[in-house]
Amino acid sequence: MTATRRAARYDVTRQDLARLLDGEPRYRVDQVWHGLHQRGLDPEAMTDLPKALRARLGEVLPPALALLAESETDDGDTVKSLWSLNGTQTGGRIETVLMRYRDRVTVCISSQAGCGMGCVFCATGQAGLSGQLTAGEIVEQVIRARRRAEPRRLGNVVFMGMGEPLANYAAVWAAIERLHDDVGISARRITVSTVGLVPGIRRLAGERLPVNLAVSLHAANDALRDRLVPVNRRYPLAELEAACREYAEATGRRLSFEWAMIAGVNDRPSDAAELAAVARPLSAHVNLIPLNPTPGYATRGTPAAGVRAFRDRLAALGVKATVRDNRGTDIDAACGQLAARAGATPPPLVSAGATRESS
Ligand code: SAH
Ligand code: SF4
Repeated sequence: MTATRRAARYDVTRQDLARLLDGEPRYRVDQVWHGLHQRGLDPEAMTDLPKALRARLGEVLPPALALLAESETDDGDTVKSLWSLNGTQTGGRIETVLMRYRDRVTVCISSQAGCGMGCVFCATGQAGLSGQLTAGEIVEQVIRARRRAEPRRLGNVVFMGMGEPLANYAAVWAAIERLHDDVGISARRITVSTVGLVPGIRRLAGERLPVNLAVSLHAANDALRDRLVPVNRRYPLAELEAACREYAEATGRRLSFEWAMIAGVNDRPSDAAELAAVARPLSAHVNLIPLNPTPGYATRGTPAAGVRAFRDRLAALGVKATVRDNRGTDIDAACGQLAARAGATPPPLVSAGATRESS
């Protein structure tokens, strides 16, 4: 995929930019870099540059993402955007979800087009992997979301959109560095969610920036986890737990476990006990996500009362758990529901540029 690309806007390094600006006054590099990252401007909108230079930069630094469609829910507080990747011949598509809460604004971004990990209940997994994103494509999702969030300030980034971030490690890490160093989003406000790729977790533990780690556990015994999350066959629970411990010790960051609550599958008292036995020694926080229905997995999510009971049971076992609200469920923007594919646009959608859902 990468071979077919032009130099997308956020894939250029500062050195690349210096080369592009050869012959211009030295301060231009900082000016343009700052304009792109801190201000999130298109070159054409950098009014402090001469007009001809703006036009040239606009041409040589095309955006990587083109907005295909956007849908809103929760009174406009949740916005799902469907993007096409300009640089690909395959016409790859990805989605991002912007969530405005009372006290914060968070964007959920994609790290791959599709996903190859095959978790049975996940729409992205059901669609398979269609391509890796570049660091620039990841960074640009945040820049575009930040602009969309205005006048609110986008403060948090979660890698919980399409894809498995640790299966695209180099690009994801380069994006995190760029977000922290140049865009001004603190690593402490960035969360990487992983299905549990043990080598990736270990590698992340050795990096210079401490990001938050969320591990999608969903089952705390190998037999059940093998079924729900096939990658568990390669990295079983004991190894995963050891890597989690290393991560927490190396970074000092609190670990969290994601648990999609599936009726009759992983919401029994015995599941709570198994989960507590894994989470408590790691002082991990648990996020309970009622399963969102997807076409390829018929089982229902646990009803709200059952989710609360499970949470209380965990509390009694000494584990803190939060019930995640199902933002964007009615526009298929919730966890596991992102399934953008070439030729398939998930309904309901309004055209790019519209600000309200049409209903
Ligand atoms: N690949 C990464 C990050 C993207 S998925 C990961 O798996 O962690 C983001 C979260 O949504 C994960 O916790 C994932 O298990 C969860 N998820 C996937 N499908 C879901 C569904 N149908 N209902 C609820 N949560 C789901
Ligand atoms: Fe991939 Fe995460 Fe979905 Fe599993 S849950 S298939 S790792 S996106």
